[in-house]
Amino acid sequence: MKKYGLIGKKLGHSWSKDWFEKMFRQEGIRDAAYQLYELPTTDNLSQWVAQEGLLGFNVTIPYKQKVIPMMDGLDPEAEAIGAVNCVEVVGGRMIGHNTDAPAFAQTLQPLLHPWHSQALILGTGGASKAVAYALQQLGISFTFVSRTPEKHPHAISYAAALDCCSQTYLIVNCTPAGMFPDVDQSPWPNTPPLTERHLCYDLIYNPTKTRFLQQAKRCGASIVNGLAMLEHQAQLSWQIWLDSQQDK
Ligand code: NAP
Repeated sequence: MKKYGLIGKKLGHSWSKDWFEKMFRQEGIRDAAYQLYELPTTDNLSQWVAQEGLLGFNVTIPYKQKVIPMMDGLDPEAEAIGAVNCVEVVGGRMIGHNTDAPAFAQTLQPLLHPWHSQALILGTGGASKAVAYALQQLGISFTFVSRTPEKHPHAISYAAALDCCSQTYLIVNCTPAGMFPDVDQSPWPNTPPLTERHLCYDLIYNPTKTRFLQQAKRCGASIVNGLAMLEHQAQLSWQIWLDSQQDK
């Protein structure tokens, strides 16, 4: 059996196993399995991966940046982004990739209008780095928003972001605020002033309509959740693992 999976600290929210199992069924793949692995730490990751016999795995919150020093190689995109969400294991060596960035770009692009030339990125973690890279590729300027802007030289506070909202029409939530099971949370301390011109993209897909997206919808903004991005990044990860098998 070829073993794949997802590592993260808490995975109760994740739909990755369901996506891969459905894809295996649809494609008639019987010799592959995808498991969720809740790891309290990534210490000794390479020994653990060897023990489990994984051929590839995805990485989620909060390990996308933490795993970088443990990689034996990085593809140029993962290196430029500074975050890894897909690892290919070749002959015991771990090669880090980032499939979040192209998945985000592919799902955002059809929704863009000329007035979406600037964006606010909520959060400063691994996913926010992939989103920033994708926005740069699409020629959209962006500002990070953080709860602790003093720790992030390029980020502004949520109070400052509330002021920018009326001129910045693309807002991307890259924080876990509102994700299952904490569905009552929103990254915003106060309801942001949104309009029909705004496009609000929440990387969270569970629940399908977070509190932030509900607020945005009530203001007439266009909304999109992270489900299509999840599916795209999983598809791209699977292609990396297939290519890796074929190269052997
Ligand atoms: P992460 O590395 O832990 O970073 C999350 C960032 O959000 C933190 O750096 C923090 O920035 C901010 N944050 C954390 N808790 C918060 C809270 N309660 N309220 C407001 N801000 C908070 O996580 P990640 O890997 O970037 O993932 C972020 C989210 O994106 C998760 O919900 C993940 O499931 C989702 N995601 C979805 C997809 C998809 O395919 N749909 C792909 C990637 C990620 P500050 O401390 O600077 O505020």
